[in-house]
Amino acid sequence: MDLEQIKYQTCSWDDGEGILLTDIDEAIPETDEDGNLQYYCLEGNHTFSAYEDDES
Ligand SMILES: [Zn+2]
Repeated sequence: MDLEQIKYQTCSWDDGEGILLTDIDEAIPETDEDGNLQYYCLEGNHTFSAYEDDES
């Protein structure tokens, strides 16, 4: 998995820049119980999940 391509995600709450949460080695992305990637929003200082939106 190329983490560089998924490293940033725009926060859907406040359009802030979100940075991918990973383990300490930056090798394995953090996910929630549904397997969604977890990001830390620099704008609102909170975490959010990235949802795949390819089906529409
Ligand atoms: Zn946010």
